[in-house]
Amino acid sequence: MPVPRIYKTTALVLSRFDLGEADRVLTLLTPHDGRLKAIAKGVRRPSSRLGGSLEPFAELHLVLAHGRTFDVVTQATVRHAWLTLRDRLESTATAWYVSELVERSTEERAPAARLYDLLAAAYGYLDAGLPPGRVARWFEFGLTDELGLRPEVDRCVECDRRLEADEAFRWVPALGGLLCAAHPGPNAERASLSVDGLRLLKAYRHLDLEQVASLRLPPAVEAEAEQAMRLFVRHVLEREARSLEFLDEVRAGR
Ligand SMILES: [Zn+2]
Repeated sequence: MPVPRIYKTTALVLSRFDLGEADRVLTLLTPHDGRLKAIAKGVRRPSSRLGGSLEPFAELHLVLAHGRTFDVVTQATVRHAWLTLRDRLESTATAWYVSELVERSTEERAPAARLYDLLAAAYGYLDAGLPPGRVARWFEFGLTDELGLRPEVDRCVECDRRLEADEAFRWVPALGGLLCAAHPGPNAERASLSVDGLRLLKAYRHLDLEQVASLRLPPAVEAEAEQAMRLFVRHVLEREARSLEFLDEVRAGR
């Protein structure tokens, strides 16, 4: 059967770039067709009907036509604009960050229904005003789960023993998480993680985001959990996310 020329999908806009005089190329995540690029022709002209709706982090209903290089956007309506997340710079920077993680960790045209739901939920939480750092950590856990690379926060990655609460441990992203003191291990890329920092990572693993978001914790503990997960994600992606620089600048300027 020939592939239909036109198809409908919902899509999250991960990023975009301008092309030529008036076109724009969108990188999209769709549930069934995964990550793909689509061109919106003439969209930067003031007369364009599509123009304002094709913003990053929006969820759209799209009608697309298969094209040679890019699929072509023929119709677009907004399902969720999540405008409030754009009002706060740290939420916006966090949305860029989680979008980049998805863009970097997905294959083109590989179905991504669960990841789609996870990303849509992250945008929704940011829009609802949940603390951006908590949303970012929650998303990192969800993403690494989805990739089959969930960080181990309860057991030693070498001997599979459940660690006692007061037991010495190291956080070694290259090995997948916790390492007990019995193993001489690599010293490279180990984050310093206290018992409280580890407890917060366990909370992300075992509680839902609303529960984690209500925890009151010292900034130093949050920073430890962030650094531990940054190292973990960097190991998974094999490099640092570009958008982290922007996110760090935004937070330094608060
Ligand atoms: Zn061990």
